[in-house]
Amino acid sequence: MIFEKAKWNNTNWAGILLLFCLITIFYLCRMNGTVAKKDIRQLSIGQIEDYFLSIGDKPFRAKQVYEWLWNKSAKDFDQMTNISLVTRQKLKDDFVINHIAVDQMQRSNDGTIKNAVKLYDGMTVESVLIPTDKRITACISSQVGCSLDCHFCATARLKRMRNLNPDEIYDQVVAIKEQSEKFFDRPLTNIVFMGMGEPLLNYNNVLGSIDKITDPKGLGMSPRRITLSTVGIPKMIKKMADDEVKFNLAVSLHSAIDATRSKLMPINLKNPLDDLADALKYWYYKTKKKVTYEYVVWRNINDQEHDAKALVKFCKIVPSKVNLIEYNPIDDGEYQQAAGDAISLYTRLLEAADIVVNVRRSRGKDIDAACGQLANKSAE
Ligand code: SAH
Repeated sequence: MIFEKAKWNNTNWAGILLLFCLITIFYLCRMNGTVAKKDIRQLSIGQIEDYFLSIGDKPFRAKQVYEWLWNKSAKDFDQMTNISLVTRQKLKDDFVINHIAVDQMQRSNDGTIKNAVKLYDGMTVESVLIPTDKRITACISSQVGCSLDCHFCATARLKRMRNLNPDEIYDQVVAIKEQSEKFFDRPLTNIVFMGMGEPLLNYNNVLGSIDKITDPKGLGMSPRRITLSTVGIPKMIKKMADDEVKFNLAVSLHSAIDATRSKLMPINLKNPLDDLADALKYWYYKTKKKVTYEYVVWRNINDQEHDAKALVKFCKIVPSKVNLIEYNPIDDGEYQQAAGDAISLYTRLLEAADIVVNVRRSRGKDIDAACGQLANKSAE
């Protein structure tokens, strides 16, 4: 009887073990089919080298693959013709290449092109190509939506959904570079982070994208042709200075008087002008780079002499120049572009103080592609 029981127990255990193995195999097979493969463009060149070593392949392949991914913007492993078929298949088994797609392209009467860009998860951002006589500028987004609440900006009305990855920022530049060559037969010359989002709230990814844009194995563009525009977050401006970045800084100032600026841009409540000024001094001390102030003059808001004088005073804190940008109405009429007299007053006072000032006409207004008009309307 004792023997019988022991025999029954052994059989029972073997059965349970077998069942356990079958369930494990079943789940492993299922996972293999459904778990998302990693996007290879999230890997650094060193990590791709490690991958090739781990599969017993030559590490120099990493450089080849990296150049295909970034310099040549390959969208498919099969484009990598100097990589063997076997290795390409292995790469396909292990990775995907996520890419943005220009979903809709609109052209303005003045030549400006606005792209609605679909991201790999179906979300949309916008990017703009701005042609002038001397330059072709790509205006690109850094976030889906924006968390800041600048009252005059259409993007502010979209909730911030997520940060863009470095490759999604990079791809916007590539798409505009291709359009520049195709439609204008001219190279892309400049990049401004003035699309959707606040680049300093997506710091690592924005800097990661700039690394690739400036890397000779990427687009090899000079950082002097790149401008990051920010609402002015003092802590992050200091961090950029510490990181010794080589690109240009623009600050959306709009008023050099705290009470007025806080009404326009709530970020100013917690980050007042004195803190911004300190950060800019630190920026200039570390980088020796001039700051550009973006500034809109609105009727009855900042169009008086004391407003212009406050700006002149602020401009003396560090070497700087001013872009007076035209207001692009965003539908409710609460804000209106100031009269020409007010603009003349600003330019006169700034020039008298030896501060360079440019009056910028807006571009692409007819297709809602101008500063602050990006609001994913085409995706509605
Ligand atoms: N968050 C960044 C970049 C995005 S906004 C920043 O604030 O700088 C890009 C520029 O457009 C900023 O200078 C912003 O103040 C300006 N802008 C926003 N709405 C505008 C509008 N309706 N008309 C003109 N400029 C606008």
